Amino acid sequence: MSVRYSRNRRGDCFVHYKCPACATALRSPLVEIGTEDQCPDCSRPFKVPGEGSIEKIRAQLERELDEKARLQAQKRQQRAERLKKASSFVGDAVSRAFSDTNEEERILVKDKIVIGRSVRKADCLVADPHVGETHCGVFWQENVLNVIDLGSQLGTLLNDELIEPNKVYPLNENDVIRIGPAKFRAEGRSIYVVSNAENAHLACRGLSKDVFKTNGGGKIRILNNVFLDIEPGNFVVLLGPSGSGKSTLLNAMCGRSLASHGHVLFNGEDLYKNFERLKTRLATVPQKDLLHSQLTLESSLKYVADLRLPHDLTTAEKNQRVEKVIREVEMVDLANSAIRTYSGGQLKRASLANELLANPSLLFVDEATSGLDEHSDREIMAMMRKLADAGKTVVCITHNLGNVQQYVQKLVVMANGGYVAFIGTPTQALSYFSISDLGELYTRLKEKTGQQWAEKFASIRGPHNRKENAVENQGIIQRSPTSPMRKLKTSLRHCYTNIKRIVELQLADKMSLAVAISQPLFVFFLIWIVFGKVSDDPGAGNLNQISNGQSVLFLVAISSFWFGCSNSAKEIVKERQLYE
Ligand code: ADP
Ligand code: MG
Repeated sequence: MSVRYSRNRRGDCFVHYKCPACATALRSPLVEIGTEDQCPDCSRPFKVPGEGSIEKIRAQLERELDEKARLQAQKRQQRAERLKKASSFVGDAVSRAFSDTNEEERILVKDKIVIGRSVRKADCLVADPHVGETHCGVFWQENVLNVIDLGSQLGTLLNDELIEPNKVYPLNENDVIRIGPAKFRAEGRSIYVVSNAENAHLACRGLSKDVFKTNGGGKIRILNNVFLDIEPGNFVVLLGPSGSGKSTLLNAMCGRSLASHGHVLFNGEDLYKNFERLKTRLATVPQKDLLHSQLTLESSLKYVADLRLPHDLTTAEKNQRVEKVIREVEMVDLANSAIRTYSGGQLKRASLANELLANPSLLFVDEATSGLDEHSDREIMAMMRKLADAGKTVVCITHNLGNVQQYVQKLVVMANGGYVAFIGTPTQALSYFSISDLGELYTRLKEKTGQQWAEKFASIRGPHNRKENAVENQGIIQRSPTSPMRKLKTSLRHCYTNIKRIVELQLADKMSLAVAISQPLFVFFLIWIVFGKVSDDPGAGNLNQISNGQSVLFLVAISSFWFGCSNSAKEIVKERQLYE
């Protein structure tokens, strides 16, 4: 008869065995070894089995338990170390962005390593929400290092070329693998984590934009041959009078509205051509806040996480990301209050949180502090500088010059006509424009035309990349083809999230819910007044009644149709900005 012993948390020991007659599983306390018992199933008597002395069994059980506890503690420790590595991986990359060391972390590929987001499944961790749980693998086979994309959503780049999923590519010396924000270099049997993993370098090469005049009569140029380099981890501000082309430049840089000439290079890659792949690295905070005012920040961010973050992220991971972002924008105390109760500054911080959710490397903010008081302006500027110090590149437009000197690392001054009048640090700007305070800048800009300012700046700046010809853009953003099945799945998922959000919004807005419910009741009441009485008329013939019945049906159909249209039109208008 097979006998097994166990011990519970309280220290009680048991004997597990089967009834010799009917094989029912039975359990007795360890002290009952050798005592007579009766099977509860077949009622046959037998002796409780056991081998050796009770003390010996008890000691053995305790030893096993200690070993189990030790193994569990060891596992916990290993997991903690891996987690620490996971956060230090991106953390290190960020802190190294500033300390321009050439140090690279080496990972020896003994057999194979998996690069991905999952602490459990990946050997090398890239803590970015767009990176797959197990994104790609690097393995050593027949004296060659190989890379394989494990069917990731974002894709893996080998020397800036997207590789096919589930296909093996041999690596040559110094080949570069890019996975989302992380970059690795192959050398011998190792891969090196290249230090500037999270960095985003943006370069504008001869950006110009022509638009048709609104009153007819040909084109005008609203952005003029802009050459601009934005270094990683910098906080850059675009300044200039109203209508000087700041928003046009910002939109051209982030791919929202394309320039007609020139290129935007993101870490050396053409942004417009590779927009579909690179868009997860950029985020734009628009001038108008796009949050649903009835929701709380936390619930609003959870919906955005559902819509924007990759679907293989678990709800717990999404919630973690939401909490992290709320902490980042210092809104922990207000996260559970409705957004409509926020002040201007808090609203802007909530909008920032909305965009930071996807962990972009480059953040564009249009009119970051317009309409804010001095205190909120300082808060937002300080926050953007903090983000830049943490490794993100931040580009913003502002009109408030009060805190520019203190927080901003680079100024781009635009002059009328879409010309660049100056690029440099705030201190350099003071001496360049011969002013003692940045507040005098706008008065100084009026002294010359935009073109004159641009020529003056070009003369001190030198040729600066102008040998690169500004080539005409194809004017399209190339999108990588998505399979119809994946498109359908994504649409269904988005549809479900949107419906959930609309239901929550409707429930939060009691007034409009009451109006929506009372509309059909009111129309029913009107129809009843008009037709109810006529059809009740005892003098009316059969034909009359049938025709009235048809009229009522017709009216019901028409009114349902129009209610549907008018209510959805309202929703579409509400969500239009968000969609854009
Ligand atoms: P800023 O943000 O500096 O105030 P914008 O970049 O919005 O200025 O606009 C620069 C100039 O270009 C303005 O004079 C504006 O009227 C004009 N403009 C912008 N977009 C268009 C367009 N689509 N069609 C015609 N003119 C435009
Ligand atoms: Mg603007």
